[in-house]
Amino acid sequence: MLFLDELPEFKRQVLEVLRQPLEDRVVTISRARFSVEYPASFMLVAAMNPCPCGYYNHPDKDCVCAPGVVQKYLNKVSGPLLDRIDIHIEVTPVPFSELSAERPSEKSAVMRERVIAARQVQQDRYAGKKIHCNAQMGSKELREICRIDAAGKALLEKAMERLGLSARAYDRILKVARTIADMAASPDIRTEHLAEAIQYRSLDREGWAG
Ligand SMILES: [Zn+2]
Repeated sequence: MLFLDELPEFKRQVLEVLRQPLEDRVVTISRARFSVEYPASFMLVAAMNPCPCGYYNHPDKDCVCAPGVVQKYLNKVSGPLLDRIDIHIEVTPVPFSELSAERPSEKSAVMRERVIAARQVQQDRYAGKKIHCNAQMGSKELREICRIDAAGKALLEKAMERLGLSARAYDRILKVARTIADMAASPDIRTEHLAEAIQYRSLDREGWAG
């Protein structure tokens, strides 16, 4: 796993180099006389602030960034790179009162069991194939495995249009929805699984930075 904190602080050219291994899981080094391919299958996790001061969209603090600065900051991470990241999540600050409140939530041991079960479903699904999890599906497997009904199709079409999503984002949504369905032990991708996967494309949305 590769974890990049403060993503926009990395040089843009450095980040762009990640596009090939994220897409193909290999790195190609080309010289005049030869080119070599190395395996580079990894999970990318990255974190960033919503703006340089960190308070854009904050529930009770004001962002002090000058107009245009927020967009410039976000633009340091290119659309094509964001396109290749399966899940985007905007995390708003949680007030202390909520943090300390005793709320019933799923225990991590229970979550772990669900993750193990979802991994097993995928191992069985891809038995005898070269891949072993949903993220690695190519276009052929996508068509076979990620079938959705008419209601799901309509929802996805609307989201594509409204959020201005790319074809690549469309494929990612299907794969993530397949995994959400696996986590719910559902043989079919249902509309709610698609709706949840669409939510995880928040950085694709036009106007995210206001
Ligand atoms: Zn700010």
